[in-house]
This record gives sequence, C-alpha cells and structure tokens, in this order.
Amino acid sequence: MLNLQLALYATTTQASRGRKVKEEAPQGRSEFQRDRDRIIHSSAFRRLEYKTQVFVNHEGDLFRTRLTHSIEVAQIGRSIARRLMLNEDLVEAISLAHDLGHTPFGHAGQDALNNCMREHGGFEHNLQSLRVVDVLEERYANFDGLNLCFETREGILKHCSLAQAALLGDVGSRFLNSQRPTLEAQIANLADEIAYNNHDVDDGLRSGLITLEQLSSVRLFSKHLSEVREIYPELAERRVIHETIRRMINTLVNDLIDQTEININSQKLQDVHDVRRAPALVAFSEPVLELNRELKIFLHNNLYRHYRVLRMSAKARRIISELFEIFMEDSRLLPPQFLQAAKLDHARSVADYIAGMTDRYAIREHRRIFAVEEI
Ligand code: MG
Repeated sequence: MLNLQLALYATTTQASRGRKVKEEAPQGRSEFQRDRDRIIHSSAFRRLEYKTQVFVNHEGDLFRTRLTHSIEVAQIGRSIARRLMLNEDLVEAISLAHDLGHTPFGHAGQDALNNCMREHGGFEHNLQSLRVVDVLEERYANFDGLNLCFETREGILKHCSLAQAALLGDVGSRFLNSQRPTLEAQIANLADEIAYNNHDVDDGLRSGLITLEQLSSVRLFSKHLSEVREIYPELAERRVIHETIRRMINTLVNDLIDQTEININSQKLQDVHDVRRAPALVAFSEPVLELNRELKIFLHNNLYRHYRVLRMSAKARRIISELFEIFMEDSRLLPPQFLQAAKLDHARSVADYIAGMTDRYAIREHRRIFAVEEI
C-alpha cells in the first residue's frame, strides 16, 4: 500500500497490538483507516451534529457542534502528524472519536450526569467515548462496539483514575505503569485544545458574548489582531477576526511542531516502545504554553461563565437530573433496548441512554415524560 514515509517512532499498522476480535486484514486501506471509517459510519458519530460544544444547537446554525469540532481537531491533528512524519490515519481516527461519549449540553451535561452517577461509579465522557466504541455501538455481526485497534482505543482514553485504569485491562495499563501513549495520541490531545480554544474565540465573538475589546487583554489574540489591522486597515470585522484566528492557530501549530521535534531529538527514539517510556514529547514551548494558558483563562472567565451560558447550563442540569431520576425510579419507562441492559446494571444503562441523547432529543424526551399535554 502506498504510504507516506513514516519516522521510526511512528505507530505503524504492522506493529499494532491489533483488535480484540481477530479480523481479516482490510483490502486497499490500512487498519487505522478502517478504524476511522468505522467511526464515521457509527451512529454516535452522526449524533455529534446535534450535541453542544459551547453553544446549544438551536442558538444558531454557524456555531461549532461536537461534529464540526471533531472535524477541526482531525484537520489540525493530521497537519501536525504529517509534518512530524507520524501516522496521520491514527491521529484522524482518534480525533474523530475523541468526543463520541459526550453527553448532550456540553460540560454542564457531563457534570450533571456525573453528579447523578456519584453513587454508581460516576460518569466521565472520556471513559464513555471508549465505552461507545468498545460496547455500545451495535452494528456488527461478530462483536459489540467497533472492534477498533488497541492504539485507537488507547488514544481515545486520554486520562483516567488509577482505580478506573485497573478495571480497563489493556488500555488502562499505561496509567498503572506511568507510560505515555503513542505520539499520535499525544497529538490528537493537543489538537483538541488548539481547536476548541480558537473556535471558542470565534463563536464567542459571533455570539456577542465576548468582544474584541475584551480580547485585547489576551496577548496571543491582540498580537495577531494588530498585525492584521496594520496590513489590512480597511478590512471588514468578520474577516479581521478570521485572519486573526488563523494566525493564532498557525502560531500554535508551528510552535508545537518545533518544540516536539526538539523533544523527540533529545530522546534518540528508535521505536514506539521508546515513545511509551519517554516523558510526554508533544508539547508547546514554554513561552507559547504561557500565551495559551492566558487564552484559556480568558475563555473560562468570560465565555464559559457568561450568564447566558450559565443559564443554559442550569437548564441542562435540570433536564438531565430529572430524566435520570425518573428512569431510576421506574426502569419500565426506558426504551426496550436499554431496559434489557438495565436488568444487569440499572444506573449504568440509564447513564448510557442519557449520554447518547442529542440536545434536542433530551429536551423532547424531557417534555414527553414531564409535560402533561404531551404523549
Ligand atoms: Mg474535544
């Protein structure tokens, strides 16, 4: 198969630890390409279109959803991987799957569901993404889930507690041995961060929840904004914003590549085993890390805690906790496929049902159950 030249320490399909259920090798595509294709064809992937990133889906057509966010993560991740001669297909698969386990209503939804599940083992979207690809997708004759390669599953599991890791078998072991995942997984993780920090600035400005004036206190933004205004003094604001954000993304991506090359060269890596034993190698330089931190703090204080975002979060908490409570009170209200699973673990199957909902499905389901005039 035609393959771009990969570095010695890239993750190759030949060296993959394989799939839980053995399958014939794919024809005309690599194992990681097959993983990516399975993710794209999954129903959890399609549902990302109607799940909130920061802005709830019905607030406007131009805001990021979990789907467009995941596509942006994959784009940034692939660019970085190609320049570092790492496996683009693996980065793409991990990026497209990384948010599959997200609840409706973004982080407010995840916090609410975690709160409901406190006595029942908790809820964490990252673990749930793995659960989606390992267990919950029901599409194939010979296995539950998508039967993805070990390296894709390991990349999806970005973090987890040691107690959880001990229950997870192969993909949990690196947390117990304090090892790192592949460079491809490390890239997908930071591509996620680059994507959301930058698109949240864009969406925040578009929504009017944050302003250019406020953002002038953020050095990474203001530096590029002045540059754009100097080159294009007459440019319309919408274009100024995009020209600024694309420069921010470029700065972060280029810095990440340069610093990661320095880190890799300091280690004399021979293969992917050396990557696992080395410290985390995909990283920003110190000065850019600081600029990035400043941007994150700004978004945290001004966008994620904006009263309009908080109002939606409060509503989300109510919808999710009320749905959880009523399904726990009477499992017969669950759709049949979840009722079966509820016989084994009632709380977990309620959490699976709620986590799989899109924003609008959760709103409708809440109305169907609680509004007397609905049937
Ligand atoms: Mg994400």
